Amino acid sequence: MLSTMQDVPLTVTRILHHGMTIHGKSLVTTWTGEAEPQRRTFAEVGERATRLANALRDELGVVGDQRVATLMWNNAEHVEAYFAIPSMGAVLHTLNLRLPPEQLVWIVNHAADRVVIVNGSLLPLLAPLLPHLPTIEHIVVSGPGDRALLADAQAQVYEYEELIAGRPSTYDWPELDERTGAAMCYTSGTTGDPKGVVFSHRSVYLHSMQVNMTESMGLTDRDTTLVVVPQFHVNAWGLPHATFMTGINMLMPDRFLQPAPLADMIEREKPSHAAAVPTIWQGLLAEVTANPRDLSSMKTVTIGGSACPPALMEAYDKLGVRVCHAWGMTETSPLGTMAHPPAGLSAEEEWPYRVTQGRFPAGVEPRLVGPGGEVLPWDGESAGELEVRGTWIAGAYYGGAGGDDFRPEDKFSEDGWLKTGDVGVISHDGYLTLTDRAKDVIKSGGEWISSVDLENALMAHPEVAEAAVVAVPDEKWGERPLATVVLKEGSTADYQTLKAFLAETIAKWQVPERWAVIPAVPKTSVGKFDKKVIRRQYADGELD
Ligand code: ADP
Repeated sequence: MLSTMQDVPLTVTRILHHGMTIHGKSLVTTWTGEAEPQRRTFAEVGERATRLANALRDELGVVGDQRVATLMWNNAEHVEAYFAIPSMGAVLHTLNLRLPPEQLVWIVNHAADRVVIVNGSLLPLLAPLLPHLPTIEHIVVSGPGDRALLADAQAQVYEYEELIAGRPSTYDWPELDERTGAAMCYTSGTTGDPKGVVFSHRSVYLHSMQVNMTESMGLTDRDTTLVVVPQFHVNAWGLPHATFMTGINMLMPDRFLQPAPLADMIEREKPSHAAAVPTIWQGLLAEVTANPRDLSSMKTVTIGGSACPPALMEAYDKLGVRVCHAWGMTETSPLGTMAHPPAGLSAEEEWPYRVTQGRFPAGVEPRLVGPGGEVLPWDGESAGELEVRGTWIAGAYYGGAGGDDFRPEDKFSEDGWLKTGDVGVISHDGYLTLTDRAKDVIKSGGEWISSVDLENALMAHPEVAEAAVVAVPDEKWGERPLATVVLKEGSTADYQTLKAFLAETIAKWQVPERWAVIPAVPKTSVGKFDKKVIRRQYADGELD
C-alpha cells in the first residue's frame, strides 16, 4: 500500500524560506578588507534573494530552466544568487574563476548561460572572453571594479544593487518538481573536456541534511563557519544550503584568500569551524608559525578535496584545532565520507581512523571493484576502484542544450554506479583508505606504489614544506616514482637525507631514485596538486 504521508517536494525554495524566517537572525559576514566587514542577517539575505528573483524575471526575462551563471568570490551576494536562481526554477551555474580562459568559454557555451552575475574585481577575467560567449545576453556586476572594461560588451550591463533596489520583497515561488535541476558545476577537466554535473533540488536538500548531521560537520546556530572552499567548487561543499537549514553563521572571505587575511579573519571574527583543501591549511600554518595569531575559537576544520597529510593534521592538533578529513568529488555533491572515529577510543586509538578518508554516511553506498570487475571484500587489504551510488550521486553528465546526457564507460558501471577513479581499501567497519587516483598510481615492475603514501611520508620530514610524487616512464620497471619537494626556508636537506628518511617507513624498493627540488608544487584551479603539469615540467628529475 502507499504511505499516508504528505508528498512535499524537497526544494531549495523551502531551504530559503526556512533559513530567512526560523533562522532570520543568523549572519552572513563578508570580509571587505576594510576596518569593518559587511554583515547581513539571513532575513536580509533572503529578502534580497527574493528581490533578485523578481529582477531576473521581470527585467532580464529569465524563464523556465534557463541558466544563470555566477563568476564570484564567496560573499553575501553569491549566497543571494544561490537561493534566488534555483527557487524561481532557473539553474545556477557557478563558474570556476581559476579555470584557464578557454575552458571557461567552453563551459559557458556548453551550458548556454544567458545571464552572468560577476564580481567587479573579476571583470578583467570576464571582459576579454565576452566576444566568445554569444549566449550571454545580460551581465550583472556586483562590488568594486572597473566597469569601463565592459564598454564594448554586446550584452546588457546592470549594477546589482540598482537592479534589485525597489523590487518586491515577495515572490510567488513555483512549486517545483524536486527532481529538476537546481544548480550545475563542471568538473575541473584535469583530463579531457570538463563534464557538467546537474544537482537536483532533491539532491541538494538531502545532501544539506547530511552535511548538518553530527556524523558529518554537525554544526548549529551557535557556530560560525569560515567558508574558504569556493562557492564555485561543488557548491562550497554544500555549506551555503546547510547553513540556511540550521542557522549556522557564515563568514565569507570574498577575494581575501591569502594566508595573512585568513588568519586575521579567524582572530577577529572567531569562527568555530572552517572548510578548505589541504593547500590552504598548509599556507595558514606557515603564516601562524611565522606570525602567531589566536586560533582558539576554531573547534574543528573539515579538510578534503585531496589527501590531507597526517603531518598537517598533527600540526593543527598541536594548535588545538581538530581536523576532520573528508573525501568527495563534484559527482558526489561532494560529501562522500568523513573521518569521525568510532566511539569509545583513546586519542591514540582514534588516530588510525582519523587519517583514513572516513566512513560513508547512510546516503552513500560503496563497493570496491577489482581489475577483473569482481566486487572485493571490506577487509582493509583488498584494493580496488571505489564505486558509489546514492541519492546525491551523479548518474550521468549534462549533454548540453538539446543534447543527450551521457555516461562514459570509465565513469559509470553498466548497473549505474559511479566509478570514482579512486583506488583504495575499505575496513571491516566501513572506513575508506584511498591509496591513489587510478591514473596516479605508480606501476613499478608489476607492483603498485601509492604516490600518496610517499607524499605523506615526505611531508612528515621537518624540513619539507610540500611534496608531490608522480609516475615517470622507466625502461626496466615500466614506471618509477619521481619525488618533487618544496623545502622550507633555510633547509639544507639533500636527496640522500630524504631517501634515508623515507627508508625508515617505506619499503626500500618504493623509495624514489628520481628527485627534483622545486619552488612550489603546481596546483589545479581548486588548489590540488596538478600532477599533469608536474609530469610535464619536471619530466625525469635528477637522478640522485
Ligand atoms: P577534479 O576531479 O576535477 O579534481 P573534484 O573536486 O571533483 O574535481 O575532485 C575529486 C577527486 O579529488 C576525488 O575523486 C579524489 O581523487 C580527490 N579527493 C577528494 N578528497 C580527497 C581526500 N580526502 N583524499 C584523497 N583524495 C581526495
